[in-house]
Amino acid sequence: MKPAHLLALESEELKGLMLEVGEPAFRAAQLQDWLFQHLEVDFDRMTNLPQSLVEKLRNSAVCTVLKTASVQESRDGTIKWAFETPDGHFFETVMIPSEGRRSICVSSQIGCAMGCTFCRTATMGFIRNLTLGEILEQVHFVNRHLRDKDGSRVTNVIFMGMGEPLQNLDIVVSACRRLISPSGFNLSRRKITVSTSGIVPKILEWAEKAPEIKLAISLNGSNDAVRSELMPINRRYPLEKLFAAADEYIRLTGQKLTFEYILIKDKTCTTEAARELRHIASHRNCKINLIPLNKGDNAGLVAPSEEEIEAFERELNRGGFQVLRRKARGPDIYAACGQLAKEQKKVA
Ligand code: SAH
Ligand code: SF4
Repeated sequence: MKPAHLLALESEELKGLMLEVGEPAFRAAQLQDWLFQHLEVDFDRMTNLPQSLVEKLRNSAVCTVLKTASVQESRDGTIKWAFETPDGHFFETVMIPSEGRRSICVSSQIGCAMGCTFCRTATMGFIRNLTLGEILEQVHFVNRHLRDKDGSRVTNVIFMGMGEPLQNLDIVVSACRRLISPSGFNLSRRKITVSTSGIVPKILEWAEKAPEIKLAISLNGSNDAVRSELMPINRRYPLEKLFAAADEYIRLTGQKLTFEYILIKDKTCTTEAARELRHIASHRNCKINLIPLNKGDNAGLVAPSEEEIEAFERELNRGGFQVLRRKARGPDIYAACGQLAKEQKKVA
């Protein structure tokens, strides 16, 4: 039997595991204390557990499965890790420090099937979904890194690493539950955001299964022609369907929706596009995050100049809704939005 990943277990499941190996249920709370308070992943250092339990745990459970394949630190303090999975695949995780915040950009899949033309992850194709343990381990790993570095912890989790989270929906919902569980990672639900390319039925499924967790939609094009060119998913679920789902999401959850909008010279960063976007946003309870194109393998796509971005913002700002420009973090190590791809460099 595959060993249980302890980070992935709910309290009740952990108690069940204790009973299965013939230990009293209160050991579950002790284990959780080691895992989530002390961030301990070495059974031998969990000093109040009896040796007999440690032996049993060694045979039936794991706290970590990932190996660190590489680590790169940007001039701006952003850190990117590449992890190797037990079956020999690689994926990446990014930690973005800022005043009072430690945000982590987690991956939900290895590669991605969605094929967006501006995104480096798309060039990998889709390899497989990450498991619940693999998703949660990214946060636990970064927590351990931060503990050793400056005693801080991850404050915000964004599902904007590799992959389309809603193609791994049930696992991502479970991951969010563990992230906000007081006996788990104990994060505020408001500090978690899941970003999707806009798979319409899954947006509604998300609203049903995890209405408390914020969703962001990567809009990226303000009309069907441009969006279909950039994102193949738009041919399947064009804007009319996407907005119907977005509005239903807002109605069902009462949450404000975030639209991510990528700025590409002559394509999405034009006066006409700003007007279309203003029209889209002024009709609904939403905010807009602008992301200037980061460079990758995106043939023919160019980032706009600062003047072009400012002109776009001016046009948009007349709409009276919240607009934020996302600063590229870690571009020198290919850690910014859309720059994650297969990394095989090994740590020496
Ligand atoms: N698959 C999900 C989440 C991961 S991508 C999604 O697409 O929403 C996270 C964000 O990065 C998305 O908003 C995406 O549009 C953006 N992005 C992808 N490639 C980019 C690039 N080259 N420059 C800027 N943003 C990019
Ligand atoms: Fe996948 Fe998101 Fe990249 Fe599109 S932008 S290919 S959905 S990771």
